[in-house]
Amino acid sequence: MRLLTITFLLLALLAAPAAASELGAAQYLKRHRGDHVQRHAFLYDMPKGGDVHNHLSGAVYAESMVRRGAAGGVCVDVITLFSKAGPCTAGQRPLTDAFGDNIFYNEILRAWSMKGFRDGGRSGHDHFFATFDRFSAANGGQTGDMLAEVSSRAAAQNEQYLETLITPRFGDVSALARRVEFDPADLAGSRRRLLDAGLRDIVPRAAADLTAALARQRALLQCATPAADAACDMPVRFHVGSAVRIAGAERIGHGVDIRGERNPAGLMRIMARRGIAVEVPLTSNCQVLEVCGRAHPIRLYVRSGVPVVLATDDEGVSRSDLTAQYELAVVEQGFGYRTLKRFARNALRYSFLAPADKAAALRAQRAAFRRFEARFPAKTG
Ligand SMILES: [Zn+2]
Repeated sequence: MRLLTITFLLLALLAAPAAASELGAAQYLKRHRGDHVQRHAFLYDMPKGGDVHNHLSGAVYAESMVRRGAAGGVCVDVITLFSKAGPCTAGQRPLTDAFGDNIFYNEILRAWSMKGFRDGGRSGHDHFFATFDRFSAANGGQTGDMLAEVSSRAAAQNEQYLETLITPRFGDVSALARRVEFDPADLAGSRRRLLDAGLRDIVPRAAADLTAALARQRALLQCATPAADAACDMPVRFHVGSAVRIAGAERIGHGVDIRGERNPAGLMRIMARRGIAVEVPLTSNCQVLEVCGRAHPIRLYVRSGVPVVLATDDEGVSRSDLTAQYELAVVEQGFGYRTLKRFARNALRYSFLAPADKAAALRAQRAAFRRFEARFPAKTG
């Protein structure tokens, strides 16, 4: 009996500091929720698990596209602001001009992102998607550089993991798709025709591209040196097209249409029961789908027990980051620290990491939370 009491006491002592510091962090956020500077610093440092809905091409900032495109001799159409591979022809200016012409530079940043976007004749949705065609030549062949930028920014915000969506060898795949007749009534035959036309040959080329991109990323992050970026330890996983979604959805992206479903409560119950997470990029949902602030169903998901993960979608185009999603969750949605912590945990729990890697990531996250929360002693009385 005494042994049992001592065990309980020991357990209580061990459990107490963790609980107390979670309380302290929760109190701190509550106290500073209206203070932009303190709130941002808190959420920037908070362990956020990872970003699991991130399109690499839209995740880089226009400033870095200009810098890299200029170095690669890229040109810009002076009217449409489309990027084109050099040498420049009539009606084009070299991207390097942007460094000596602030008006030109800012025109490009606005055309290639949501910077300064005001809803005028054109909707946010249309401007958002038009950016991709404009900057694509400036981004060409830069996957490793883009990975370095995005993963370094993620690690600086205390993210442990990055799951990015890419379309490798898009040109090869679309050329193949144009050549091959697709018959929805004959899936086996369509598959055979794709394979006969060389689909299999594209896969090793795509794999080689990714291997080279990861090597370039690690070189840029100085991973083999004492000056290694924190992102060197961060696992990166690629989403290729919609394979995962078709193969059996364990996560749903965006999920803002839930109110249009015939039985939203029933659907959410199923998602909660089956553990199907919803990825919520608050900034992009507002910019692209015009589902903003309290009109967003995120609180409904949380109340219904659906696992929620905050994500960036296209943080470069949106001019945002994962910290900004946490800020909106506090300021516009009114969530407190414990709910944010659950979002951060969900990001790893519903990631596509292999089971052993996932367990290790969750362990590392618990340790990260202990370190973070120890900075905020609870106030009593
Ligand atoms: Zn998306």
